[in-house]
Amino acid sequence: MRVHVLGVGDTFSERHHTHALLLEEGDFRLAIDCPDSYRRVLAAAREKERLRGTSPDVTAALDLAAIDHVLVTHVHGDHMNGLEGLAFFKRFAQGRKVELWTIAAVREQLWDGRLVASMGRLWNGTGFVDLSFEDYFTWHELSLDTETEVGPFRIRARRTQHHVPTSALFVTAGRRSVGISSDTAFDPSLVDFLSDADLVIHETNHGPAHTAYADLLALPEEVRQKMRLIHYPDEHDVDRSLIPALREGEVLELS
Ligand SMILES: [Zn+2]
Repeated sequence: MRVHVLGVGDTFSERHHTHALLLEEGDFRLAIDCPDSYRRVLAAAREKERLRGTSPDVTAALDLAAIDHVLVTHVHGDHMNGLEGLAFFKRFAQGRKVELWTIAAVREQLWDGRLVASMGRLWNGTGFVDLSFEDYFTWHELSLDTETEVGPFRIRARRTQHHVPTSALFVTAGRRSVGISSDTAFDPSLVDFLSDADLVIHETNHGPAHTAYADLLALPEEVRQKMRLIHYPDEHDVDRSLIPALREGEVLELS
């Protein structure tokens, strides 16, 4: 499994793109969250990967036209503001739909609560046409009860403690796995859920609905050793971070 790090910042960041990862197994790609200006996010990560010496074969994954499967963890803008543009691109540039994966509670909010205002009615040159969620998306439920197969990935999802329904993810491909907290208050039981993975990507930020860096520092050494930070505030000192912070343009190979 390969993990491309596309965006590591929070919604207030002036230094980073917001929360976005791209998982690859073979030729299957699964976007985890889809923030603002997503095509530019991909292009920026592609350039950073290139500067790190990553091979063009690897950087080629970061292409909007090649990403059909998107998993949205929750409806906050820093995780899904790019979905509208992605769906328009798929419909108008590629004549296809987005294969969208969410837990049911996220699906309930996604269209009526977010996207319908800008996507539900289009001008075709002579009149207005009403469009539905199904015109843009093929929705697949991410189960909270059982493992969901997403291409070559097997995903267990779990609700987190956050302002809105949010899913953390335990993603397995072959014998390798990555745990992704998405946005959450500090939750030891969630850390337990994630920490069986080879790699744990955990958020940190301020406020009651996020996880304090200090709480992660207090975790047992064996958990911290496999942990990388994401969704961190601009003032987080990446160079001195005792739990290594992800950097945009990194490619993590789990093999
Ligand atoms: Zn959030």
